[in-house]
Amino acid sequence: MKGSLLYEGKAKRVYHVNDEPEQLVLSYKNDATAFNGKKKDEFEGKGRLNNLITSKVFEYLHQQQLPSHFIKSLNDTEQLVAKTTIIPLEVVVRNVAAGSITRRLGIEEKSVFEPPIVELFYKKDELDDPILNDYHALYLTDVTEAELQSIKDKALKVNDHLKDLFKQSGLKLVDFKLEFGRLADDSIVLADEISPDTCRLWDEETGEKMDKDVFRESLGDLISVYENILQRLEENTCAK
Ligand code: ADP
Ligand code: UDP
Repeated sequence: MKGSLLYEGKAKRVYHVNDEPEQLVLSYKNDATAFNGKKKDEFEGKGRLNNLITSKVFEYLHQQQLPSHFIKSLNDTEQLVAKTTIIPLEVVVRNVAAGSITRRLGIEEKSVFEPPIVELFYKKDELDDPILNDYHALYLTDVTEAELQSIKDKALKVNDHLKDLFKQSGLKLVDFKLEFGRLADDSIVLADEISPDTCRLWDEETGEKMDKDVFRESLGDLISVYENILQRLEENTCAK
């Protein structure tokens, strides 16, 4: 069923699907990278955890009538998705200040954003993913003004649902990054992954960082932290 390799990225491999030109297989790797690939390592089991966590999250969003490219999980490390042409934007939603916004704007970590802040970055490794305003995004991508607005609206809806989902697991959703892609019928759909690699999650009680910052800041054992996130999501979704 899995066809030839289409693309190999930092965290996943993307394969064609034989006889299904509008589908792809995403295969999650064990590699971890940070600071745009400047820090690198490999963690046995990470691909499985991100595949299973992303699958749970997309399944939850589907239940909440929020469609995405996700079709189904195929095995421990692979999932079947709808093929899209990815819009080269990283759409970041922030509920609490952490990471680049603290450095860029001198905002103290943990400051609360109410309402949440949406930021756009240009998905271009050679340029270190620079921040964009709407004018830049409209110039650099093929999205219309109405589509850009709808992307931002969808990102905020995803935020509402993910905040709930993670709260039920005792986790605070600090921020996260989404990607959107265009399907063959020209519509725009949520794509890529939603995992502790792409979200900041803090334990509600202890404030402990339970995401890729464990790797970025060398805070401990990444795999046991990601395993804990999966367990909490499984307990929470099985209890329903
Ligand atoms: P990167 O390219 O940033 O290193 P990954 O290693 O995660 O990232 O590679 C996965 C690639 O697959 C990304 O470029 C992502 O935009 C792309 N992708 C994710 N979902 C889809 C999809 N449904 N259709 C086409 N491409 C996708
Ligand atoms: N993020 C991501 N991929 C990127 C850049 C950021 O998934 O290429 C996520 C990151 O994990 C965090 C959020 O987007 O959850 C905001 O990241 P930020 O801009 O603070 O950058 P960072 O400090 O993480 O590099």
